[in-house]
Amino acid sequence: MADEPLVAAYEGVVCDLDGVVYRGSEAIPYAVSALTEAARHRPLCFATNNASRTPAEVAAQLRELGLTVDDAAVVTSAQAGAALLASELPSGAAVLTVGGPGVAAAVLAAGLTTTSDPDQARAVLQGWGREVRVDDLARASIAVARGARWVATNTDRTLPTAHGLVPGNGTLVAAVAEATGATPEVVGKPHPPLYRVAAERLGAAANGLLAVGDRLDTDIVGASAVGADSLWVLTGVDGFTHLARSTARPTYAACDLRALLAPRPDVVRNGRTWTWAGTGLTLEAGGPRGLADGIPMDLGDIHANRLVAVGLAAVLGLRDDGEVGKRGAAVLAEALDGVLMHCRPDAPAQ
Ligand SMILES: [Mg+2]
Repeated sequence: MADEPLVAAYEGVVCDLDGVVYRGSEAIPYAVSALTEAARHRPLCFATNNASRTPAEVAAQLRELGLTVDDAAVVTSAQAGAALLASELPSGAAVLTVGGPGVAAAVLAAGLTTTSDPDQARAVLQGWGREVRVDDLARASIAVARGARWVATNTDRTLPTAHGLVPGNGTLVAAVAEATGATPEVVGKPHPPLYRVAAERLGAAANGLLAVGDRLDTDIVGASAVGADSLWVLTGVDGFTHLARSTARPTYAACDLRALLAPRPDVVRNGRTWTWAGTGLTLEAGGPRGLADGIPMDLGDIHANRLVAVGLAAVLGLRDDGEVGKRGAAVLAEALDGVLMHCRPDAPAQ
């Protein structure tokens, strides 16, 4: 159906949190109203690589923002890691946990036990936590060196904060990898387990999901890894300049989550012109121009969500055109990020 909302084309929606629903304690504009409306069409869940908090804590924050969600609608990478270990180890097996309260809670909820003794540990589940100490990394390294199964919740190298990027779980996992020469199994995005747990939670096939996220190298690459379509939103860390350099291939892109309720974009390419119902952009010798009903105009005068949808098709199309195309993609991406900065009010300064 041409005028059906995008969300209705899928079995369910799995949505990232940071940079999509909220940034810090603030809801991202339109996120709460769009998700509330989307949930009337299809089941939703929220999947986060951040393992430090429990699903109940995350769900409480979402309710505070005005969303109607129960705790089971939140899936964390700690739960995906605990589920993997529970499928491999006998019930009650001891797991050494590194990370915030969400990591140990997930292990216990999966029918395993926790230990801080490397000699007792059958496995190590390593996630991020504000209180993680060198001692924790030392115990994890000793257990891994002695042959414990090692699962990392995620390997995001950095975490965005109000003051800039700080070491994420990937940096701490790298410390244990460096010390032991071992490599963990990773369950968070872009690896398949987290989205698979989310699909199970929704009673959907993983390839029937629409995955929504702001990070190309985790949310969007992870969606492709399970055969799911993806909606990339520009309210978080990545912009078009990242897309031009990336290999990630979002199915859709939008300025904000109202795109879930809008019709599916229908972008047509004609040479170096991309339009959706007559509105779009064209690449001229002097640079990219906006286009509405054949009339050239500034890129900034095109409706933002439409410009983002058309811009996605143009950057992906140029990326596919080889080296010359890639240079064109880089120039276009910079122009798009310039006019779309208002989509990304919380983006770190370039
Ligand atoms: Mg995010």
